[in-house]
Amino acid sequence: AVAPRALIAGNWKMNMDRVSSEVLASALAQNVGSVAVDLAVCPPSVYLSPVSVVLGSSGVALGGQDCHTAQNGAHTGDVSPEMLADLGCTYVIVGHSERRADHGEDDAAVRAKAEAARRAGLIPIVCVGETEAERDAGKALDVVESQVRGSVPEGLTGATLVVAYEPVWAIGTGRTPTADDVAAVHAHIRKVLGDLCGDAANVRLLYGGSVKPGNAKELMSVANVNGALVGGASLKAEDFLGIAKAT
Ligand code: PEP
Repeated sequence: AVAPRALIAGNWKMNMDRVSSEVLASALAQNVGSVAVDLAVCPPSVYLSPVSVVLGSSGVALGGQDCHTAQNGAHTGDVSPEMLADLGCTYVIVGHSERRADHGEDDAAVRAKAEAARRAGLIPIVCVGETEAERDAGKALDVVESQVRGSVPEGLTGATLVVAYEPVWAIGTGRTPTADDVAAVHAHIRKVLGDLCGDAANVRLLYGGSVKPGNAKELMSVANVNGALVGGASLKAEDFLGIAKAT
């Protein structure tokens, strides 16, 4: 089987301001032609609109960092997937570990968000990953399997779903799993997706957690890794493009 084209997605989290968002987006738009992977950026929702203008038709895709399940209504402070689509988003991250931890989102909530994203025509990037205690207890594969089964809607395809494996203990810490550990988890996710998707082989499986230009080549060459979800290193064009070039 031909591996799906890799995706390098930047999760800016609650960083950047309007001007720095535009400057970064502009640098990516100008350099996207020099990389052989798909690029996407997920800015804070308030900066989606200016970033969308700068990205224009460059081919760098836009994504939200979260969405509500409803199309609209009395949900103060929330953003619907239809609103993200309206601004030109292709993707939305759902179930990031920071959302799961800070906002109490469980698998059922994440799955409902992924379904809402599909209703709006967005591709959900569904995040899963074990804590350090779970890994130390030898439960990483079980935890990730149960998150995938609980968070990924059935019937999606390689064209409508991205899954990101992000071990919680590797996010923002500078620590990463070994290539063998990443390979084991990604192979397991691929197998579990076989029960949920018709074409599991085509679903892009991203690795996330302290990906940098210096470790990208090793991590991105692991079997069943089809790209990266990048936090800290997505805030500098040089680092983000360095990861893309190493992939
Ligand atoms: C993330 O939180 O999605 C992430 C991968 O963060 P970092 O790259 O900073 O570890």
